[in-house]
Amino acid sequence: MPLSPDEFYANTVAAANAEGRMPLSRMTAWEIFPFEPDGLRVVPLRAPALPETPRRGESGSACDSCDATGRGSVWEDERWRLITFAEPSGAPLVLMLLPKDHFDLTDLPDDLAGELGRLVVHTSRAIESLEHVARSHVSRWGDGGAHLHVFFIARPEGFVQLRGTCLAIWDDLLPRTPKDVRDADALLVARALEDSYGGTAMTT
Ligand SMILES: [Zn+2]
Repeated sequence: MPLSPDEFYANTVAAANAEGRMPLSRMTAWEIFPFEPDGLRVVPLRAPALPETPRRGESGSACDSCDATGRGSVWEDERWRLITFAEPSGAPLVLMLLPKDHFDLTDLPDDLAGELGRLVVHTSRAIESLEHVARSHVSRWGDGGAHLHVFFIARPEGFVQLRGTCLAIWDDLLPRTPKDVRDADALLVARALEDSYGGTAMTT
């Protein structure tokens, strides 16, 4: 059985200094880590608080994914939509895949779970077929909103420093990709998905 919240916190405090800060981790020495360790400090871990604040779309709270139907869609079929964000970020392309109905990952019926698997593969394949994109990272955290949303983050070719998990941080640090370039690439992915999987690429 995992540690209880209080046991987990006590374990952390025991490893922290007088200010409650843990020492820097091995990650800060990784080639892909986006910050220099000098002057970097770890934020003290706050004590556990129960019950947790509900995620958006949980326990009767509003679900922004259900409310935003159609916004930013570049592709859709009867049950899924693939969206971009209003403004680009530092990665060449960031897409999000969501079911149209309100399901979290662990709520998905088996037919939708099967479709999710195929869509992750087909979407990743389309992203990695873009010129100058070396990798499509796939992630699901879903700890802010309870409506399943799977991220696809394209890693630009030639930058091994951007490999791996820290791309999600680099995406926020790098200057925005030009919107016209991002939108054209999103449309290429949508059309590739339409060709290989089905559904409809949105042209506007
Ligand atoms: Zn929802």
